[in-house]
Amino acid sequence: MDTASPLAGQVAVVTGAGRGIGAAIARKLAQRGATAVLCGRTQATLDETAHAIADAGGKAEVIACDVTVLHQLEYAAARVESTFGRLDILVNNAGVGGFKEPLHNLLPEDWDTILNTNLRGVYYAIRAFAPLMIRAYSGHIINISSLAGKNALPNGAAYAASKWGLNGLTYSVAEELRGHNIRVSVVCPGSVETELSPHAGKDPNKMLQPDDVAHAVAMLVTQEPRSFVSEILIRPTQKP
Ligand code: NDP
Repeated sequence: MDTASPLAGQVAVVTGAGRGIGAAIARKLAQRGATAVLCGRTQATLDETAHAIADAGGKAEVIACDVTVLHQLEYAAARVESTFGRLDILVNNAGVGGFKEPLHNLLPEDWDTILNTNLRGVYYAIRAFAPLMIRAYSGHIINISSLAGKNALPNGAAYAASKWGLNGLTYSVAEELRGHNIRVSVVCPGSVETELSPHAGKDPNKMLQPDDVAHAVAMLVTQEPRSFVSEILIRPTQKP
C-alpha cells in the first residue's frame, strides 16, 4: 500500500460536502488518494470544494442532490456506478441544526426538516448506495452523528432525537452489513466551528475544527481490514 495515498483508486461519496465538516472530510479523503464524489443541494459550494481538491492535486466529482429525496440519491448512485464502477466509502455527513426553542414550541415543519435530513436522509443514502458495496463485498459507511446523540440537548430535542436515532441506526446497520464485509461506523463530535451550531462566547482557538472530524474519518477508512472502530467520540482538548 502507498502510505502517502492509502486510498488511491478508491471512490468516496461525501454528503454535505459543500462546506463545513463535509468539505473537510472530502478534502482529506482526496488528499489520501480517493476520488471524492461531492453531494449536497448547492452546486456552487460543491464546485468550490471540487476546485480546492483539484488545486491540491486531488480528484473530485460533483453530483448535486438533496438527501431527503430518494430518487436523487438513486440517480447519484447510478452515476457513481456508471462513472467509476465502484464505491468504497460513503460518508453520511449532510445535516441541519435546530437549537432555538424547546420542543413544545418547535413547528412540525421544522421537526420534519431535521428528522428528514439527519435520519431519513441517511436511510435513503444507505438504501441507494449500499447495494454497490454489497455487490463488491467491500466498503465503509461512516455516519456523522454528534455528542448530542449521547446527551440531553435542551432547545435541541429534535436534533438530539435525530442523532440518537442515527446512532441506533448505525449500530444496527453495522450488524446487518458486516457479513457483507462492509464496516459501518459512527462519529460523534462535540461542537465544531461551522455555520451549523451557535458558538457565541466560545473560544474558536479551543473549539473543534472540521479538520478534526476529517482526521477521525481518515483513520476509520485506513484501519487494517481485520477490525473496525465502530464509534468515535470527539471532544476538544480544552473546554472552549
Ligand atoms: P454545515 O451547516 O456547515 O454544513 C451542512 C452541510 O449539509 C452543507 O454542505 C449542506 O449543503 C448539507 N445539507 C444540508 N441539508 C442537505 C440536504 N437536504 N441534502 C444534501 N445536503 C444537505 O454543518 P456542519 O458541517 O457543522 O455539519 C455536518 C454534520 O456534522 C451534520 O450532520 C451535523 O449534525 C454534524 N455535527 C456538527 C457539529 C457542529 O457543531 N457543527 C457537531 C457534531 C455533529 P446544502 O445546504 O448546500 O445542501
